[in-house]
Amino acid sequence: MFTTRGHVPVSGPSRLLARVCAHLADHGVSVALANDAAQIVLGAAHGCVRVAGVGLEAMVSAPDLGALRALRAAIASHVLEFAPPGVEVVMTWEGDGAGEAPPPDFRLLTVMGTQTLTPHMRRIHFHGEDLGHFDTLDALHVRLFIPPPGVAAPAWPLMDVNGRLVEQPADRRPAIRKYTIRSIDTGAGDLAIDFVLHDDAGPGAAFAATARPGDVIGVAGPGGRGLRQAERYVFLTDETGLPAVARMLEALPDDASGLVMAEVADTAGRQPLKAPAGVTVTWLYRGGQNASRLADAFETLAWPEDGPGVYLWAACEHAAARLIRASARARLRSGRDQHLIVSYWRNGMAEEQHASHKLQEQKGAAAADPAPV
Ligand SMILES: Cc1cc2nc3c(=O)[nH]c(=O)nc-3n(C[C@H](O)[C@H](O)[C@H](O)COP(=O)(O)OP(=O)(O)OC[C@H]3O[C@@H](n4cnc5c(N)ncnc54)[C@H](O)[C@@H]3O)c2cc1C
Repeated sequence: MFTTRGHVPVSGPSRLLARVCAHLADHGVSVALANDAAQIVLGAAHGCVRVAGVGLEAMVSAPDLGALRALRAAIASHVLEFAPPGVEVVMTWEGDGAGEAPPPDFRLLTVMGTQTLTPHMRRIHFHGEDLGHFDTLDALHVRLFIPPPGVAAPAWPLMDVNGRLVEQPADRRPAIRKYTIRSIDTGAGDLAIDFVLHDDAGPGAAFAATARPGDVIGVAGPGGRGLRQAERYVFLTDETGLPAVARMLEALPDDASGLVMAEVADTAGRQPLKAPAGVTVTWLYRGGQNASRLADAFETLAWPEDGPGVYLWAACEHAAARLIRASARARLRSGRDQHLIVSYWRNGMAEEQHASHKLQEQKGAAAADPAPV
């Protein structure tokens, strides 16, 4: 068993502990708080955080260092995040797992082979060790860490003892891009990802276009919301969401019903989709025009009056996602958990800029209308 003990002097420790516990519980961590002491369980790790004088004391134990670091990071990063502003708060640790280490969910992937799916889509087969935590349909996407071309020793991400990412040299720092696990076999250590080979290729598409056996990238996650149980499924997607839709279709029960609207550039962009008999697949073609037709297609759906039995999943370019979201807001009565409408990329913007705009828009939307879409 590995153990580590931490201490942080801070004002208002009871309130801080309650806030950290509420946040961790909201994110699915098992937490029991009583009499200013919290028992916290994350995976194989167990922690106790308690009020001690003017501050908090923490103890974490786990059978392996990865689990120990994950829970220590979860506790420390939130203690520091929620500590009262204005005063520098320092959390110190002693015991096992000292020093910097890769984030607990980070792994390396080695390219094993590639496969051309369509003129603009390439599947890459990777091999990795200890991939078990990626094998879930509840969270489908991952962050890929793509080293700058020609860099022999990439600066992979490192975390300090408090779960904060360490600043890495810019010239060796990998670019981070979100992709979907198309298939995974944890026993064999195989993982496949389908990449769109788009014009104006950024690090993601450029890596996919040139990947060769032996190339190494990083992966962390998984994240996002995945497949939900529903009476009926409606999937809307362009090429970027096809890997997720294909994977979800394969996991649906045989008697599932619903529809898929999949948009690609032209007929050559179609891919075989293995869907249950009750799920119809319609292909849409952008043709010579770049504008997505998905939002118009969504308008044509005769939406059931009472939405709750339907799971709507949409992923596409930003402008189309915006239109679908606005239409869904007007037409659906379902709860937030029953649909997911996501902008997977934004015309004219690299992922970093797209992500920061998305964050600003989400903050703006939450301030203007706290009701979920
Ligand atoms: C949760 C999630 C899961 C995703 N899963 C997948 C997946 O499995 N497979 C996949 O291929 N993509 C997927 N994407 C989309 C992918 O992350 C983006 O397309 C990303 O921008 C690609 O990175 P890049 O480095 O190639 O281009 P960037 O550096 O981000 O952008 C460079 C330029 O290319 C343009 N561009 C980016 N993507 C496209 C595109 N698809 N078509 C045309 N132009 C584009 C941008 O507008 C920009 O002008 C996913 C996105 C999210 C959010």
